Amino acid sequence: MRRGGISNSLAWAGALALALFSLSAPGPRAAAAGTAFGFTPDTAQASWPGLARGSTFDRQWPPNSARLASRLDRPLPNNIPMQIPAPAPMPVLYRLLPQNDSVAVFIPAGRAAPVPNALPGHSEVLTLSFDDCGSADQIQAVVDSLAAVHRHGLFFITGQCRDHFPWLVDTLLAAGHQVCNHTYSHPDLRRLSAAAIRWEIGHGVMAGCPYFRPPFGAWDGPRGRIARIAAEYGLVPLLWDVDSRDWAGAPAASIATLARARGGVILLHLHGASTPEAIRLIG
Ligand SMILES: [Zn+2]
Repeated sequence: MRRGGISNSLAWAGALALALFSLSAPGPRAAAAGTAFGFTPDTAQASWPGLARGSTFDRQWPPNSARLASRLDRPLPNNIPMQIPAPAPMPVLYRLLPQNDSVAVFIPAGRAAPVPNALPGHSEVLTLSFDDCGSADQIQAVVDSLAAVHRHGLFFITGQCRDHFPWLVDTLLAAGHQVCNHTYSHPDLRRLSAAAIRWEIGHGVMAGCPYFRPPFGAWDGPRGRIARIAAEYGLVPLLWDVDSRDWAGAPAASIATLARARGGVILLHLHGASTPEAIRLIG
């Protein structure tokens, strides 16, 4: 009787466990060992469906016991390696991830005329850059649009933005984007002392990107103080060829038309109302 043999083995195993427990436990506790496990051998067998005929399990589930028993009589194919498929990459929902609301984020108010402007000329290379910060939904929309058109961007987020969304830098890097320095709190660096400029750049994002973009594009030229201090951190100033004015409400269609006509580095913002649509129109 195969099942009987298994039942006997379980009973022996139970007895052995009780004996070991009695050996390891001190006297008074060992005296209660027969009930210390909280179950009797019969109920222990009943938790193995189909193995113990006439057990509690059989009395509770008489219609199933025979079928389960015959199933367990067959050899189990447990020598076949498991085929575990690689997990599919999960899209990150930015708004579901933790945020640090104690850090205020700089987001400029749109007051300038919402007209994109550009340097003359044309470049075959089109680089989309995104400055400052935005709400989690705005950031998600920008990243989704970039993914839809298979583009990567340069993200000049402030140190405040990084601290506000502690997951942001890693998430952008994982999506293949570059995350670059835009100072910590977005001041006009021309008005600051050298020590304050150093603090602002030093507390900005350092995520492997070689570029630094001065807030408002305000600097004192390639040989000036700001560029020299940025160079201390190994950073090169990078401005833009096309100012999309997305932060001032420029329509997506005119942003896209000018960006495609001029090319080069396009200045966009994570908080721009029409930015996600403009990305999709640029294509
Ligand atoms: Zn900015």
